[in-house]
Amino acid sequence: MTRVYIALGSNLGLPEQNVALAIEALKKLPKSTFVSCSSLYQSIPMGHVSQDDYVNAVVAINTKLDPLDLLDKTQEIEIAFGREREEEERWGPRTLDLDILLYGHCNMKTERLTLPHYGMTSREFVLYPLDEIAPDLQLPDGRTLKSLLSTLTENGMTVISQA
Ligand code: ATP
Ligand code: CA
Ligand code: CA
Repeated sequence: MTRVYIALGSNLGLPEQNVALAIEALKKLPKSTFVSCSSLYQSIPMGHVSQDDYVNAVVAINTKLDPLDLLDKTQEIEIAFGREREEEERWGPRTLDLDILLYGHCNMKTERLTLPHYGMTSREFVLYPLDEIAPDLQLPDGRTLKSLLSTLTENGMTVISQA
């Protein structure tokens, strides 16, 4: 089994419900066991598109799925929640976004999958929820979660429901 961290985000439809139900869907992933889940957070959108705030969370699982099979499964869940990637602006509103942050200590860069996720080191809506469930986390390159948190630019986030 490999420890994997997955970030969830939603700001379309019923974001809080989307994230809560997506967590339930992740609990049912094949060849995988659920480990833990952060609180749900409300965060301010990245980028220049004017849009509603996001609901975010991070989930830890252990899995025997290989990285690309896991990406297939998480993209199936996004589609089941009504995600229509072709019609979206970059970082625009979406019903559900599932980013695979870390797959054990795997480093990979292919057309479909980059691990660790390239954005995780600078996004507060990823690092704070991660700190809740994996405070001693280290990236494959040796950087600690605590060191990333210490250099973070904060936008402002609130906890909307405790884990
Ligand atoms: P960002 O990647 O900056 O968070 P985004 O989540 O809005 O932006 P998407 O449109 O959801 O971007 O994803 C674009 C592509 O990124 C996906 O089709 C997927 O193949 C690829 N991708 C690469 N690495 C990862 C990863 N670690 N987790 C999820 N998707 C990834
Ligand atoms: Ca994303
Ligand atoms: Ca994504």
